Amino acid sequence: MVDPVEVVALAVGGDRDRRRVLLQPPAILSCEMASVVAQWVETTVHPLAKGHFGRDLVALRVGGGHECRRRNRGAGGPMSEHAKGRALDVFGFEIGEAPDRLSVSVRSGDQPNFLAAIRQSACGAFATTLGPGSDAAHADHLHVDIKARNSPTGRFCQ
Ligand SMILES: [Zn+2]
Repeated sequence: MVDPVEVVALAVGGDRDRRRVLLQPPAILSCEMASVVAQWVETTVHPLAKGHFGRDLVALRVGGGHECRRRNRGAGGPMSEHAKGRALDVFGFEIGEAPDRLSVSVRSGDQPNFLAAIRQSACGAFATTLGPGSDAAHADHLHVDIKARNSPTGRFCQ
């Protein structure tokens, strides 16, 4: 993996209202993946949370940044993009400050409009987007990665 970084939080907002969105727990990502995630959160996820709920995005519940394993935890088959720090699993979104914090989990399917918008935006931001309905391995999270495709515009969005 090239230049792995531990991402604890991402900055969003303008100069005057700069704030942090936490990754919980912190994820180890390649430098390139970290910048794609940062841009996605700043330009899309945070505005969507604001638009849908009128509150700030506080944290993303994530998993599986850098993990040395094969795809879908199989014993054989290709190495997962997770092994290169080029993938992230998003389990949920923490929106607003306590005591009015809203937890939107990908698994629950609550807030379907918000989750659908998030997923659609992920399809534009990442090379691969998988989630509930794609297959059994992705029933409870959104998997996004920047796997290189044969064509520069080749995206896998399911
Ligand atoms: Zn994944």
